[in-house]
Amino acid sequence: MLKYAIVPVVLLLAVSSAAAHKNVSPAKPKEKAVPAKQLFGKVTKAALVKSRAFGSYAKGCFAGGSQLSSVAPNWQIMRPSRNRNWGHPQIIAYIEKLAKDAKARDGWPGLLVGDISQPRGGPMLTGHASHQLGLDADIWLLASPDKRLSREEREKFSAVSVLTKDKKKIDEKVWSEKHLKLLRRAASYSTVGRIFVNPVIKKKLCQDAGKNRKWLSKIRPWRGHYLHFHVRLNCPPGDKNCKNQPAPAAGDGCGKDLAKWFKPPPKKKKGFKFKFRPKPELRLADLPRACRQVLTQ
Ligand SMILES: [Zn+2]
Repeated sequence: MLKYAIVPVVLLLAVSSAAAHKNVSPAKPKEKAVPAKQLFGKVTKAALVKSRAFGSYAKGCFAGGSQLSSVAPNWQIMRPSRNRNWGHPQIIAYIEKLAKDAKARDGWPGLLVGDISQPRGGPMLTGHASHQLGLDADIWLLASPDKRLSREEREKFSAVSVLTKDKKKIDEKVWSEKHLKLLRRAASYSTVGRIFVNPVIKKKLCQDAGKNRKWLSKIRPWRGHYLHFHVRLNCPPGDKNCKNQPAPAAGDGCGKDLAKWFKPPPKKKKGFKFKFRPKPELRLADLPRACRQVLTQ
């Protein structure tokens, strides 16, 4: 009991003294009670200041974001009503370049772009633990159709899985060599830290990559990610308050790391009940202090 009584007092003291030191007012009691996703989720425009990311991919925000235009010759943004086509200028430039290069050099007709970030990042009202720094983007594993979709179509157009129904194999009727080329192109830029795909997709890439395998280290297996792949850029150089993830291990990641995903789950002990405890919701006070300013800029 004592432990729980002490922690908030110590935390409060730390927060208030740090806030006084930096001349930043501590979070108001009302703000403290509101989940940060509600505060960031209702902001409709970027903070028009110098571009900077604060915090980590799953606990942060960004200022000075740009908006990816909805439709362009090489891409279309999907689910426009979500207003999540905002990001750090680096990811906007990355998507524009990837879309252009993939079309010109790999024959990928155009990107369908899913969620990037909210105008100032932060936690979202639905989906995604990350995408908070404006440096993550989801790109569909379905090529853009050869026509400009209307806003309504971009709202409703269905994504297509590259896996079979049981999600155990690649659906060879959907998958093509162009998918490999697109993912290889997506991983080829030095700004990219990681790309998340379903373990079954990673396995397929491991099988088909041939001799050039360096790019495979950035392709990381993760659950889901069979309708889209998730690109994560490194923190922009000089952005001191942006926390990078350690670089993925060298090598193609096709060995033990990947095999773990295909092991059968451990058998449950008799009488053992697994209790799912959702993570507590992030409050403004859990994010870097700069995020409070980002919200009001
Ligand atoms: Zn994502």
